[in-house]
Amino acid sequence: MNHERIPSGKVYIVGAGPGAPDLITIRGLAAIREADVVCYDALVSPSLLDQAPPGAERIYVGKRCGCHSMKQEEVNRTVVAQARDGKTVVRLKGGDPLVFGRGAEEALACAEAGIEFEIVPGVCSAMGAGSYAGIPLTHRGMSSSVAFVTAHGSRSGESPDLGWIRLATSAETLVIYMGSKWLGKITAALMAEGIPASRPVAVVSNATNASQTTVLGTLETIAARAAEAHVPAPALIIIGEVVRLSEALNWFERQREECEVGNAK
Ligand code: SAH
Repeated sequence: MNHERIPSGKVYIVGAGPGAPDLITIRGLAAIREADVVCYDALVSPSLLDQAPPGAERIYVGKRCGCHSMKQEEVNRTVVAQARDGKTVVRLKGGDPLVFGRGAEEALACAEAGIEFEIVPGVCSAMGAGSYAGIPLTHRGMSSSVAFVTAHGSRSGESPDLGWIRLATSAETLVIYMGSKWLGKITAALMAEGIPASRPVAVVSNATNASQTTVLGTLETIAARAAEAHVPAPALIIIGEVVRLSEALNWFERQREECEVGNAK
């Protein structure tokens, strides 16, 4: 009897970075270039998919608020099934796969199925937004602590998850993922928690992409300003004194404006 083990493939759970395709890691890019299958999310740049071999299969497994195209269990099953077929699978996820990315659930599914996997970190959107909007998440003399929190969580989807609210009084910089839809509720809750209304706030949308937009304000003013500017998703809310530095350090949007002025001449 032949007990030869059927070789299964390998799954690379890769962080694509915050948006701009050249912010992926070299290791992540190498994995894409070797892939038989790429399972990707909505926030992944299409030009990264072009890096996969021409014959590689590209499977969209993303979810965007309101229109879940695949449930997490289905994503897990798809990734595992492809690897069981002996394929090299890249599971490409926006930002870092383990920062509010459910990458660990996919890794656990691989582990349970006995499939070899590797997790390749990515630049998370908080760090991408910090660098490209000129907001240092920590800064000597201004902030020595930063907390990443998510406002997404309530099952009904009707209100933000504010389980982290107490952190807001201790972390000097707060980065809120998936919260822009509830900006007014979040800022009101923070002020009710005793955070001064004058605390600087930035909403950074499409961070590191050509369309990046930063709206600046305070806890009191930001909701109205962001509504007026119609900032699109995906967006992050950054709260803290460090936001003040954006005016001096927002090199990316300034460069773009200078280009636009130059082109108009
Ligand atoms: N794993 C990702 C986060 C996925 S959760 C990471 O490491 O960044 C999705 C949320 O991330 C969005 O709702 C938004 O709050 C944030 N996000 C992702 N990409 C973004 C971008 N380019 N600009 C601003 N926010 C972004």
